[in-house]
Amino acid sequence: MSDATRFETLAVHGGEPRPARDRSVVFPIYQGTVYEIEPGGGVDYIRYSNTPTQTYVQDKLAALEGAEAAVVTASGMAAIATALSSVLGGGDRLIVAGNLYGGTHALLAEEARRIGWGVDFVDADDPAAWEAALRPETKAVYVESITNPLVRVGDLAGLARFAREHGLTSIIDNTFPTPVLFRPHTVGYDLVCHSATKALNGHSDLVAGVVTGSAERIERVRHQLMLFGGSLDPNAAFLLSRGLKTLALRVRAQNENALALARFLEEHEAIADVHYPGLASHPDHERAAALFDGFGSMLAFRPAGGLDAAERLLRTLRIPYPAASLGGVESLMTRPAISSHAKMTAEERAAAGIGDDLIRFSTGIEAAEDLIADFAQALGD
Ligand SMILES: *Cc1c(COP(=O)(O)O)cnc(C)c1O
Repeated sequence: MSDATRFETLAVHGGEPRPARDRSVVFPIYQGTVYEIEPGGGVDYIRYSNTPTQTYVQDKLAALEGAEAAVVTASGMAAIATALSSVLGGGDRLIVAGNLYGGTHALLAEEARRIGWGVDFVDADDPAAWEAALRPETKAVYVESITNPLVRVGDLAGLARFAREHGLTSIIDNTFPTPVLFRPHTVGYDLVCHSATKALNGHSDLVAGVVTGSAERIERVRHQLMLFGGSLDPNAAFLLSRGLKTLALRVRAQNENALALARFLEEHEAIADVHYPGLASHPDHERAAALFDGFGSMLAFRPAGGLDAAERLLRTLRIPYPAASLGGVESLMTRPAISSHAKMTAEERAAAGIGDDLIRFSTGIEAAEDLIADFAQALGD
């Protein structure tokens, strides 16, 4: 393609060959599992993630994250587990800063011990704690750019610097902001992981993941992926590439809707509190404003009337679906206490600030006026 570097152009044209394959404006789905070996060439095989449609979407994703290379995976968890296994061996340790997505938490708090990885959980805002967790076996740091469900933003730039100073690999889950809002490689992260199931695809109709980084690091991730086998099917890779073309438009619309909704809810007397990094009242507002080009699609809030009011609200809203997951074109809402954080005890949830009455909202691309009107009717205005 041309040497354009703006995000919107890369989302549409990144990764595509010119002249187009078979003169097709849309990159074709190469569903085949294996390709003829060229003289001196290697094996192109579906599990090696190097067949044409896989390569196309990988090149597009690398362009969007501003990375040399990318590898797509069968899910977000496959991306995270494979990225970690490319860096950590038995006996190595990982520093985890801040709260984690439920699946990643279970992997690192439970499975890691069986694999032989040591994990040190620390505050994402406390450099003294990172320093104190350092041991000779420490190989990497791991963080999420925006946490779930309280949408906190840790000292992301500081953590990447800390990793660099101590020769550790820095790994970040950038699912919530997407590269539209934040490109972690620009502040020094070595490996960026995504659940592409969420906003990257954006239509709640496929499961996929991606890891981006330097060509050398991604080659190591790809090697692990070949052996553990979590490769992405080309048909899903095609659907993901289609979703990506509208990523910038969708994420901007979601940001605007989420900000409008957060402001409406913050003013509403039936709402006790609202968590959204775009609000001046959010503890990480200034940091998010400095790091991100927007504040994302995710917000959380508590109705003033406690759990009964929260359940009533979930029943009476007409537009959003009560469903887990996030980042799609449709608004979704859940109570983390019975979904993403159901495995924690009530005490653990309370300590993490996740009350039973907290509602998490993934804002879609519907009209903001309609979402606000729906809340107004549900809150009895
Ligand atoms: C959904 C999610 C994952 C896991 O992704 P899957 O595609 O469901 O495997 C990881 N991290 C975050 C932040 C997520 O939201």
